[in-house]
Amino acid sequence: MTVHGFGFPQGRIEVICGPMFSGKSEELIRRVRRAIIARQRVQVLKPAIDTRYSESHVVSHSDVRLHASCVATVRDLYAAIHPRTEVVGIDEAQFFDEELVAVCNSLANRGMRVIVAGLDMDYRGLPFAPMPRLLGVAEIVTKIQAVCMECGAPASFSQRIKGGDSTVELGSSERYEARCRRHFEPEEARQMELLRARAEVLRVPTTLDA
Ligand code: ADP
Ligand code: MG
Repeated sequence: MTVHGFGFPQGRIEVICGPMFSGKSEELIRRVRRAIIARQRVQVLKPAIDTRYSESHVVSHSDVRLHASCVATVRDLYAAIHPRTEVVGIDEAQFFDEELVAVCNSLANRGMRVIVAGLDMDYRGLPFAPMPRLLGVAEIVTKIQAVCMECGAPASFSQRIKGGDSTVELGSSERYEARCRRHFEPEEARQMELLRARAEVLRVPTTLDA
């Protein structure tokens, strides 16, 4: 087990969470790059389900990228970790099941620094898969915000603007938008109502024309 700095093993869990476009992947990449500069042994993994941009890299919406391995399940993730690895980066953690919590704990207990990035809420504003429990067991939690696409305020929610009603629907800016609390509308019917109301405000008052 590697010992750093003050003579203590640095095993710990760090969670980076927030809505889509908040910079979770950028922040994960930033931390991992610094660990590489410090010549630590690093492994970055992501769920095989997320092949939006690349199967071999973590890619941010600003096109910052870092080499990563795809794993199908939490068990595969655990099996892929080399015993001498010092820093483990995991992106899109919300796509893994709850077993991820036990695996992150086990890796941290073995002295590894585990950095996990993921959506804390799904498009309905509900806690997403293993994320809430990971937040509970992590030593360090960083919750970041995006920019609301309606008003420019800090945004903590991911609004689905197109697509069905399954929790997992892969997509980027064509399907999702970051929104603040005021502009986040999880109910699709209500969302349509708001869009109609907005169109109504913008509409030329034809009834008065008559
Ligand atoms: P995440 O992993 O949280 O989805 P990324 O790290 O992939 O986020 O991307 C963050 C980048 O996305 C920002 O640095 C910015 O360039 C871009 N971006 C696009 N839309 C927004 C938005 N609504 N708010 C903030 N950043 C945005
Ligand atoms: Mg990301």
